[in-house]
Amino acid sequence: MTECPFCRIFAGDIPADVVYSDDSVLAFRDISPQAPVHVLVIPRRHYADIAEVAAADPGLVGAMVAGAAAVAAELMPAGAGHRLIFNTGADAGQTVFHAHLHLLAGATLGRAML
Ligand code: 5GP
Ligand code: ZN
Repeated sequence: MTECPFCRIFAGDIPADVVYSDDSVLAFRDISPQAPVHVLVIPRRHYADIAEVAAADPGLVGAMVAGAAAVAAELMPAGAGHRLIFNTGADAGQTVFHAHLHLLAGATLGRAML
């Protein structure tokens, strides 16, 4: 069995609060939200980080951002802002090594970094 927690979500081994899904990506609420809306958008295929995604399949980066836009349009009022973050590498705070895009929204976000 895979050790990757996000691959385990795809396998159905770990439950997730899914808010969006398409052929390329899945989006679900973060288990430890850092804002009123905190969603992770992940590719269906396992890549360790966004740099690997960009090298192997640049279009998939676009699919992840498009997925985040769809989530924001679904969950947020028109005109509300949101922040997108890719943590890449442990130095940057990456703790799960399956590429993911953080979508943060629902509050006035300060300059503090995730
Ligand atoms: P990172 O620190 O790698 O950029 O972000 C990983 C995120 O994944 C963290 O915000 C953490 O709360 C979230 N996370 C880790 N394990 C799980 C899980 O099993 N389910 C969900 N929904 N989120 C998770
Ligand atoms: Zn994975």
